[in-house]
Amino acid sequence: MTQAATLERPCPICETENANPPPGRYGRDGWSAVACRKCGFVHMQTVPTTEELVETYAWEKTFPVEAKRRKTKNPVFAWMDANTRWRLHIFKRTEGVDLLNKRAAPGPALDLGCGSGGAFKGFADHLIPHGIEISQALALRAAEVAAQRGGSVVQASSAEGLEQFPDNYFTAALLRSYLEHDWQAREVMHNLYDKMAPGGLVAVKVPNYGSLNRLLMRDRWCGFRFPDHVNYFDKASMRRLSQDAGFQVEMPLMQSLPSDDNMLAILTKPHARESANA
Ligand SMILES: [Zn+2]
Repeated sequence: MTQAATLERPCPICETENANPPPGRYGRDGWSAVACRKCGFVHMQTVPTTEELVETYAWEKTFPVEAKRRKTKNPVFAWMDANTRWRLHIFKRTEGVDLLNKRAAPGPALDLGCGSGGAFKGFADHLIPHGIEISQALALRAAEVAAQRGGSVVQASSAEGLEQFPDNYFTAALLRSYLEHDWQAREVMHNLYDKMAPGGLVAVKVPNYGSLNRLLMRDRWCGFRFPDHVNYFDKASMRRLSQDAGFQVEMPLMQSLPSDDNMLAILTKPHARESANA
């Protein structure tokens, strides 16, 4: 797998250059996740380039392969993983999109890493769906769906795609099973802050590296996917990344329980007066 085009990146949380990091505890096929020397954030320091990801590791291609691999390699654990999904339904949870529908002001709403536009249908009528998607095939499909409601889709990496929208534009943004994939997570959050309208709401759903299931399953945890999950957030790192970009952060306990493999963060871009006071 080492013939893949790769790049090295600093820690997306604290920007430390972790040169020659000690081998990570978790990894596969030559890819590994390492803990930042300074802040402890678990991330892939060596990542496939964006082009490599698009062509070889696009999520829509790797997911079926990964599911099959898990089944073949660890049938018992694959079974446990698939058959203890009831964990996810113990508590009724508010999905990010429901929350945006309820709380966001009318206006343009962004789905970052929108795939084929499946989430657009969930946006309430007062939200105009827009998307950014790196896969050309998916972006084309999503563009058709968005256009039906007056929205648009940019085919690009998120860091670049965001620059094609005006500042202070979106009243809502959805980052659902997305941020764990993007090696430019820090740049994306800063760019997203600029593009959100004051008072705009962002719902971020990511795998929770601090979950009990991760501790229990160790390297068999469903959140590990190499090389397409490059960031392994827990509550503290999610909060720090969001606050560094300028957002106010809520992490409702019931949507971020340790028994859940995923967690939800709700970010608000403060109005100018609030941020001046902050
Ligand atoms: Zn760090």
